[in-house]
Amino acid sequence: ERERALADAHLPVVTRDGARVTVKANVSSVATARLGAGLGAEGSGLVRTEAVFAQWHRAPTVEQQVEVYTAMAQAFDPHPVTVRTWDVGGDKPLDFIPIAEEANPFLGVRGIRAFRDDPSLLLDQLEALCRVGRTHRINVLFPMVTSVDDVDWARARLQDAARRVGLSAPPHQLGVGIMVEVPAVAVRLGRLAHGLDFVSIGTNDLSQYTLAAERGNSAVSTWSDALDPALLQVVRYICDRAPEGVVVSLCGELASDPDVAGLLVGLGVRELSASPSTVPTVKARLRGVSLRDLQDLAASAVAARDAAAVRELLLAVV
Ligand code: PEP
Ligand code: MG
Repeated sequence: ERERALADAHLPVVTRDGARVTVKANVSSVATARLGAGLGAEGSGLVRTEAVFAQWHRAPTVEQQVEVYTAMAQAFDPHPVTVRTWDVGGDKPLDFIPIAEEANPFLGVRGIRAFRDDPSLLLDQLEALCRVGRTHRINVLFPMVTSVDDVDWARARLQDAARRVGLSAPPHQLGVGIMVEVPAVAVRLGRLAHGLDFVSIGTNDLSQYTLAAERGNSAVSTWSDALDPALLQVVRYICDRAPEGVVVSLCGELASDPDVAGLLVGLGVRELSASPSTVPTVKARLRGVSLRDLQDLAASAVAARDAAAVRELLLAVV
């Protein structure tokens, strides 16, 4: 299976009944960007910038960031690269963006929330993205958004950054999107995604917040299973409610499982971002199935008793 998948890695994905699916790569360095591009990823649906600069003790300058994001954009050219702004807090510490100690970090100052008091490092990052976005295909993705005000605030900072580089507005080819990892965003998707270019479902966090079970805590892993029918139903709800013209992408770990990718497509997702090494197999698997069958599978999965029953359904398909 792997050999065949590698041979076809650079071909697009069209299901047997003609549905087009885009498969991108999650990246955390220039090297993984090149790896993903070499394995046939059609761009990156998630650059985890907090991982790219995880070892840095001081914040990278605008110029240093321009260099890194440009190299990533060049690796994936002509496909777009979606760069997520600093997703600090929770399980992701950054020396140069200190977060005060909290009793419940996953429910605390995370992602976009960390910049409300002092947006300077976010502005530097957005300035770098505006600069690269003038000449390369780049999208900006805001993490841990919860409210309409978060979206408005983040977009206003992007506007500030554009002015810093002498533009009256962000470069028009720079796509803007938000992570959907907080259930409140899924519930109000029509309102929150209005005017955006895309949303990206982060099933790693969306499952921990939907199921009230911390990711990475093995004592509650029975409850935090991302294949829980409740989570699948939320994913379907998001796909159904996305405003016209807003692309729904999914970049959680679920997308990297070739057995699960088809189920996500059946739920309505048409763009997946997976870990680079899994891209060829995910693409190959999706070429061999029909959307009609995947939609039937999704209907059964949403109605299943629990995650274990969903896994049995998946095994029956493969
Ligand atoms: C997610 O939450 O699913 C996600 C893709 O982001 P991260 O794993 O970096 O929190
Ligand atoms: Mg997340």
